[in-house]
Amino acid sequence: MQQKFNQQSIKQNEKIKPQAQLTDRFGRKVTYLRISVTDRCDLRCVYCMSDDMQFVPRAQLLTLEEVVCIGKTFVDLGVNKIRITGGEPLTRSNIMKVFEELGQLDGLNDLTITTNASQLTRYARDLYNAGVTRVNISLDTIRADRFHKITRVGKLHKTLAGIDAALEAGFKKVKLNSVILKNMNHDEVTDLVDFARNRGMDISFIEEMPLGIVNDHDRAKTFYSSDEILADLRQRYELIATTENTGGPARYYQMPDSDSRVGFISPHSHNFCDTCNRVRLTAEGKLLLCLGQEHSKDLRHVVRAHPAGSAGNDEALREAIIQSMLIKPKGHDFDLKTHEVILRHMNTTGG
Ligand code: SAM
Ligand code: SF4
Repeated sequence: MQQKFNQQSIKQNEKIKPQAQLTDRFGRKVTYLRISVTDRCDLRCVYCMSDDMQFVPRAQLLTLEEVVCIGKTFVDLGVNKIRITGGEPLTRSNIMKVFEELGQLDGLNDLTITTNASQLTRYARDLYNAGVTRVNISLDTIRADRFHKITRVGKLHKTLAGIDAALEAGFKKVKLNSVILKNMNHDEVTDLVDFARNRGMDISFIEEMPLGIVNDHDRAKTFYSSDEILADLRQRYELIATTENTGGPARYYQMPDSDSRVGFISPHSHNFCDTCNRVRLTAEGKLLLCLGQEHSKDLRHVVRAHPAGSAGNDEALREAIIQSMLIKPKGHDFDLKTHEVILRHMNTTGG
């Protein structure tokens, strides 16, 4: 069913100039919100999900109107970047409404999406027209048989067609993300960089994080560090560390003969919590203050207790978000040796 948006409350919000700042106990300014709009996905990547996932019943999800309302309130509070993620965000019905509403917000400099690209041939142009600036696409292998093995159900040709569609649509940036696992795809890192270079794209390599129990492999055994990947790549390419600070966890390297950059997101080997500027909203409306910890605030409860248009609606949500800064923890502490895992899978929060 088509969602109806409360235009009146949206217009009221638009008059508020984003100027307040969200600052946590450690002086870190929160300017970046990631929103998971669904925990469901058309793929089942072995590092992200188990093969018998239970998904959140649809009735428990935030409505699209609630997602927009929370996103707007964050922008009013000084957030200037929002990433829509999942699960696979483009599998949620009517999801373009969220991009269209958020894309119009003054103060939001960057509206981005993380996607597996399987639906981008259908959506790339509409996302661009809605104001999406940058697209991150997950691609762990360019071998069709491996792609099927890693995603359990996926077809490589669909993702490659989605990448082409994104490149044609005209976004400011289309970037690849690759999770590298030893003895699964670690021997492909150079091929993946070639693939990115040939298309003028950046690529980031991500160390696997112990989020949720996965039954496919032992994460301690498949761990392949960013330093190992860097050493492999240096057999072929000259990689020069850049000094730029993107405000995010990635460390970037440049190659003298290409505009493409190679990034490393290394939650195990290089802790990046000191400069953390982000919080995450789950599809159920839980605001997570850290990817690697359970500190959270139930924003669905707040928006449903103070529905749009009711007295004090905006204020209650603003106050809940401001108060949540007090419980943002200092950092995560992933340790594969202890075999302790956060029970939530990555599809709950998105990347
Ligand atoms: N479905 C979309 C996609 O795959 O791009 C968005 C959601 S997915 C959860 C976001 C990112 O998280 C992807 O780049 C994926 O590779 C990464 N990811 C999933 N599980 C991970 C894990 N356990 N450790 C590190 N990265 C993970
Ligand atoms: Fe789906 Fe993305 Fe998780 Fe793969 S990483 S299963 S595409 S949510």
